Amino acid sequence: MPPVFRFAPSPNGYLHLGHAFSALLNFDLARQAGGRLLLRIEDIDRARCKPEFEAAIREDLTWLGIAWETPVRRQSEHFSEYRAATDRLAAQGLLYPSFESRAEIARLVADEQARGKWPHDPDGVPLYPGLARSLSPEAVAGLLLAGAPTAWRLDMAAARRRSGALAWTEQGAGPSGETNTVEAQPEAWGDVILARKETPTSYHLSVVVDDALQGVTDVVRGQDLFWSTSVHRLLQELLGLPGPVYRHHPLLRDDRGAKLAKSSGAVSLRELRARGVSPADIRAMVGLAAAD
Ligand code: GLU
Repeated sequence: MPPVFRFAPSPNGYLHLGHAFSALLNFDLARQAGGRLLLRIEDIDRARCKPEFEAAIREDLTWLGIAWETPVRRQSEHFSEYRAATDRLAAQGLLYPSFESRAEIARLVADEQARGKWPHDPDGVPLYPGLARSLSPEAVAGLLLAGAPTAWRLDMAAARRRSGALAWTEQGAGPSGETNTVEAQPEAWGDVILARKETPTSYHLSVVVDDALQGVTDVVRGQDLFWSTSVHRLLQELLGLPGPVYRHHPLLRDDRGAKLAKSSGAVSLRELRARGVSPADIRAMVGLAAAD
């Protein structure tokens, strides 16, 4: 069976050089391996994702000389499949609802920090300190019935008891040079949110479900997602899904050393194109060999 690669952008802005690097690397590796390349549109955030950005992604990738298989999977069309996965986790007793707002969580964290050091996840966000697990079943039922905003969280301790030790094969490298066989440490993320009332999935859940459904064998993506792989391995194990091989690549950085990001105004590929930059120039700019 040929290997299956995927490029999975979120259509919440225009692609920049960092995306070009990731997409071209997937394309080159798929070609070298005689494999397939899929494009997946990760648009579960209905407020921030826009059809015009999706159209721009297709246009930019085509301009770069990248070809992908059709049909393209668009995550917003598959909420029922993600819900089926959360149902399976719920049936194992591994999900629980929490009801605090962001402001309430920030207050709870501040209380914890006043008492002593409180752990942060690998992205630097304080772990969930919530009280939700101490609510009585009656209180939970009442809040659900009243239609309170709900986040469905993974009971990490219970999930870990079920999964045992987990590892993944890393062909790239982590932020501290981790490579080859990496031990998953999902507990570093605490009780992660897997679904919300208004969005019945999350990045972690949909990426794991889709990679399995689409038969992805090789996940090639930026190093900023390296430690997310711990959560992905755990979910694969709990849902009985195969674990792909991973290759996390270095992130492109601007002159000040910050990673390129839509939010900090990284120059877009279409802007570079308008300035007369060619696809071959882009390859050179991201450090990839010329296309043959
Ligand atoms: N949609 C994610 C992003 O744009 C990438 C997800 C992945 O490659 O696993 O950052």
